[in-house]
Amino acid sequence: MFDLTGRVAVVTGGNGGIGLGMAIGLADAGASIVVAARNPDKSAEAVSTIEKRGGQAMAVATDVADKVAVDAMMAATLGQFGRLDILVNNAGVDAGGGAADITPDEWALVLAVNITGAHYCCQAAYPAMRAGGSGKIINIGSMMSLFGHGFAPAYAASKGAIVQYTKAIACGWAADNIQANAVLPGWIDTDLTRGLRDAVPELDGMVVSRTPAGVWGQPADLAGIAVFLASSASDFVTGAAIPVDGGYAAQG
Ligand code: NDP
Repeated sequence: MFDLTGRVAVVTGGNGGIGLGMAIGLADAGASIVVAARNPDKSAEAVSTIEKRGGQAMAVATDVADKVAVDAMMAATLGQFGRLDILVNNAGVDAGGGAADITPDEWALVLAVNITGAHYCCQAAYPAMRAGGSGKIINIGSMMSLFGHGFAPAYAASKGAIVQYTKAIACGWAADNIQANAVLPGWIDTDLTRGLRDAVPELDGMVVSRTPAGVWGQPADLAGIAVFLASSASDFVTGAAIPVDGGYAAQG
């Protein structure tokens, strides 16, 4: 039920953090992986990590905010593997301060990568999934899909939007046997949060005490949900937003 042998997965931002954690899980379950991110050195390292475990992967340099680049990445995927079964929209950034201070460029960047980029990838993936008779789309939200934070208005707006977008395509493409779901990670130890942890000394204590599991999540903690949502085990699951958060969202 969880076997992904013969399937092909595009993972945006798959060269580090949560994206690499999910890519490794999908590869271990048998899928071939396309690592779609900007930094070629990091992507080459991710491909090598997957290959050393016995998996198959290739990197395609991609800025998801650039529709031309996204379409080229999808063409390269189909050129190499001839099919696309799984799309993980994981690429994400945060920028700027509170709503009173965030600049137009910071606002535009966060929305362009986190929501518009995900849409470009879904749009580019749809024809191949429809032609193949099935598809699995996994969009990465956040606890900020559920809660707000004064320091991240653009990020929270983008992560709220990705959940509604996921519901829209889940409804729109269900008849094509395409399932679309969102994963809402809690606090996960990655480059993104390491920077924040350095800048905000009290963050570590806040995360550990606010998370019922009492620890930060690791990228590998996202592998299981990726395999579930990419496999036939989830064929009747669509339009859902699933927290993977050590209980963070459950605690009042
Ligand atoms: P990282 O900063 O470790 O990874 C972000 C990834 O996105 C990198 O691989 C980066 O690669 C890629 N990326 C950034 N911009 C672009 C772009 N324009 N086009 C293509 N790829 C891009 O962060 P995380 O692993 O922590 O975050 C991954 C996702 O999980 C994000 O969507 C984030 O919002 C979400 N998330 C993270 C949480 C956490 O606690 N860590 C909690 C909740 C959600 P490159 O620079 O090479 O392009």
